[in-house]
Amino acid sequence: MSKLRAAAVGGLRRSGRRAASPAGQSRKGALLRGASAPTPLLAQHLFSDPAEIQSLRGNLLPWYDKCKRDLPWRTLAATESDADRRGYAVWVSEIMLQQTQVATVIDYYNRWMQKWPTLQALAQASLEEVNELWAGLGYYSRGKRLQEAAKKVVSELDGRMPRTAELLQKLLPGVGRYTAGAIASISYGQATGVVDGNVIRVLCRLRCIGADSSSPAVTDWLWDMANAVVDRSRPGDFNQALMELGATVCVPKAPLCGECPVKKQCRARHRKLLGKPIPVPDVEDCGKCMGRSLLHLCFLSPTATVTLVFAGVGDCPLCPPAAEPWDSSLGVTNFPRKAAKKQPRAARTATCVLERRGCHGAPEYLIVQRPSSGLLAGLWEFPSLPVAQGLQEEKQREVLADYLQAWMGQPVAAEGLQFIGEVVHIFSHIHQTYVVYCLLLDGDVTLDPSPSQSRWVTEDEFHASAVSTAMKKVL
Ligand code: SF4
Repeated sequence: MSKLRAAAVGGLRRSGRRAASPAGQSRKGALLRGASAPTPLLAQHLFSDPAEIQSLRGNLLPWYDKCKRDLPWRTLAATESDADRRGYAVWVSEIMLQQTQVATVIDYYNRWMQKWPTLQALAQASLEEVNELWAGLGYYSRGKRLQEAAKKVVSELDGRMPRTAELLQKLLPGVGRYTAGAIASISYGQATGVVDGNVIRVLCRLRCIGADSSSPAVTDWLWDMANAVVDRSRPGDFNQALMELGATVCVPKAPLCGECPVKKQCRARHRKLLGKPIPVPDVEDCGKCMGRSLLHLCFLSPTATVTLVFAGVGDCPLCPPAAEPWDSSLGVTNFPRKAAKKQPRAARTATCVLERRGCHGAPEYLIVQRPSSGLLAGLWEFPSLPVAQGLQEEKQREVLADYLQAWMGQPVAAEGLQFIGEVVHIFSHIHQTYVVYCLLLDGDVTLDPSPSQSRWVTEDEFHASAVSTAMKKVL
């Protein structure tokens, strides 16, 4: 149970009042038993009025209908009548869009869907083909897992996509809670919410949530909120509208509040305009349930967690930490807040561009395949070797020359390696520096029959191969 839920229920216990719930009795019982050290929540963080939720939906959906970007996966989701194809089309887009900008994804998506328009087609592709098409999109394991999951749907599920978020998450490798919710709501109309970076930002601003939005407790809370507000008749459009709002209007640095369709429901904006915390009625004063229901279930979905509202009592676990109070110069961008990001670790790799003259004298380059697991799994690269930070250049040449000898089956003179420069590439968790050397070879070169794969490629072949963006920076 999350601390926030414990807090909510703990408040109930202290109040000495019990409220009946139409659903989730046993779950509530468990919550009550597990509650400890409760901390009350401020009412401003909640959607405590059903009419307000209706207004939110009523403002957001028409705006989305009018302003949404024309994107290929949206077209397919709206026009594809075959449910499995529709689910597959949304699935591919959601996987590609993880950690990647829409503008970058469009071309990859179109090429992917042209090459593999169905699950069955993707299931027959080779990993090499998948990596080639994915090259440059980053986070390469996504493509690999997508293909593995497609094989599983074809071989074990008779080619039928699971139709609910629960089953999608359970049965498909690489499909997490967000992706499952997106596929189920957009493709199959399941009334389930989604929480991604854009939704976190919008919800945190709508409800002035300033606690660390990456913490599990706040994440749980946001999921409950997303499930509570999602439109029951158009869940897929509502979820996309919330994400679209975050991507185009409620953007991280300079949100366009004046153009925002839900500005009336936005408490961060009210807070900014008022210049002080917003007075939000305590549930005791609620005009809907007249304070009879401390659980205030009237505004939550049947599956949502019990929520108890206390206004202005004690330290609220959804407010910004006391040490980082509201900063009026930031306005609505006071929300959301995240814990400081962990710095990526620094890594150095010595890389050698081995070049020979191919037929007709055109240059060819040796590329080798990376291991089938780990970072950039299965991709091709110039022979590369991790080296210690601060390793002297002379020593670096020696270890690289030894490593190249293993590939070429003949001695390589360290002094023959020509230093070209350094290339920096930032992975999500690694600040990688490639120290690039080159070596021009004369005559025929025999490659060692190594268990790993290697091949000579022209420059055009290199760019068409499954090589990472970092390696493309090297050539
Ligand atoms: Fe975001 Fe501003 Fe709209 Fe609030 S009013 S949801 S801060 S764009």
